[in-house]
Amino acid sequence: MDNLNAFQVKREICEIGRRMYERNYVAANDGNISVRISDREILTTPTGVSKGFMTPEMIVCVDMDGKVISGSLKPSSELKMHLRVYRERPDVRSVVHAHPITATAFSVCGMGLDKAFMPELVVTLGVVPLADYATPGTTEVPDSITQYLKDYNAVLLAHHGALTWGKDLMEAYFRLESVEFSAQIVWKARMIGSPNQIPCEKLGELVKIRESMGIHGVVPTCDACGVSGSCAAGASNTARIGSASSVSAARSSTAQPSPAASELEDIVARVTERVVAALHKP
Ligand SMILES: [Zn+2]
Repeated sequence: MDNLNAFQVKREICEIGRRMYERNYVAANDGNISVRISDREILTTPTGVSKGFMTPEMIVCVDMDGKVISGSLKPSSELKMHLRVYRERPDVRSVVHAHPITATAFSVCGMGLDKAFMPELVVTLGVVPLADYATPGTTEVPDSITQYLKDYNAVLLAHHGALTWGKDLMEAYFRLESVEFSAQIVWKARMIGSPNQIPCEKLGELVKIRESMGIHGVVPTCDACGVSGSCAAGASNTARIGSASSVSAARSSTAQPSPAASELEDIVARVTERVVAALHKP
């Protein structure tokens, strides 16, 4: 692992903190940022300080167990989840945590971001799962995210916020922006109508682009067939997901109709014909 320049990284952490605060991703002293600068050193934001108003000397240096190596302020109690990410993912160099409003609202509603609505989000972000609720500051929090660290690039924390990670600070931060952007699009689309998912047979192309860019992790699958890019339900798959009940409706309407379902369709067609005929009688 190449050692990064500590002072330069401290300045970058302050800059990202300012952006997070300006974009409403954190209120008051919320949120935390960390960068792993060597095998055993992590630079991280202090507790009790607004991330919008930090200066480089406020940044704390800790070891892989969270023990302070240098710095006069205390690291956040949420550092535990950052440390878990670094322990499970040696390739990760930065972790960002915030409470962006829309993504956090999804976490409050018990929803992750797991549908294919926007091509660039399928490619760069993939599925953002929802981790179980855990009391902030306790070891329950790192325990709740561990199962998602290997196969995802971001996670929503139930009733809490979002956590993202990446090969450097910019990648981790941009993933946070993408999580909030994704949540905003789904929210607005649901207000306007029933969001349509990207057709399953087109998902395979996005998966290929993703692989060619060296991005790993779980991508959304088609509601009808459960795979990305080779839809068993055929080309007619444009599943609508207005609500949980319409997900199952979309599933049954896009899947190969069972004999019972096609019989029912016949009956509906015949009844409709009779009703229309009756209406047109003089
Ligand atoms: Zn938090």
